[in-house]
Amino acid sequence: MAEQKPRFIMCICTGQCPGFSSLDLWQLINTVRGEMDVEYAIVHPQLCVDDGDRFFKDYIKPGVKYVIGACDPKMQRKMFKDAFAEAGGNFDEQVIALDLRNMTTEEAINKVKEALSSLVNA
Ligand code: SF4
Repeated sequence: MAEQKPRFIMCICTGQCPGFSSLDLWQLINTVRGEMDVEYAIVHPQLCVDDGDRFFKDYIKPGVKYVIGACDPKMQRKMFKDAFAEAGGNFDEQVIALDLRNMTTEEAINKVKEALSSLVNA
């Protein structure tokens, strides 16, 4: 079986957070899904609350890599690792967490691209 491609998840902090005000979400997500080597790209409005936990528990597959665009990587780890574990996954082994706050769309696109290349070259 061909190796599973990584998936990109973008958390947009409800859409109200000033940290993402210079980011064109739809340009980012369409560029990732259309031009980068991912299985697919999705948006979640707020991963760090209860429905985000429920989403992770339903969604995470062991062995698949996830690039998550959101806030501080250390905060992501703290907030998401238990839900990954409950889904049978492992945050530390499966996730590249990216802080995409306070970036232009182009900067965010480049950061996702670099993260995906680091997986290919790992
Ligand atoms: S995970 Fe981070 S980016 Fe997403 S809603 Fe929570 S604080 Fe905002």
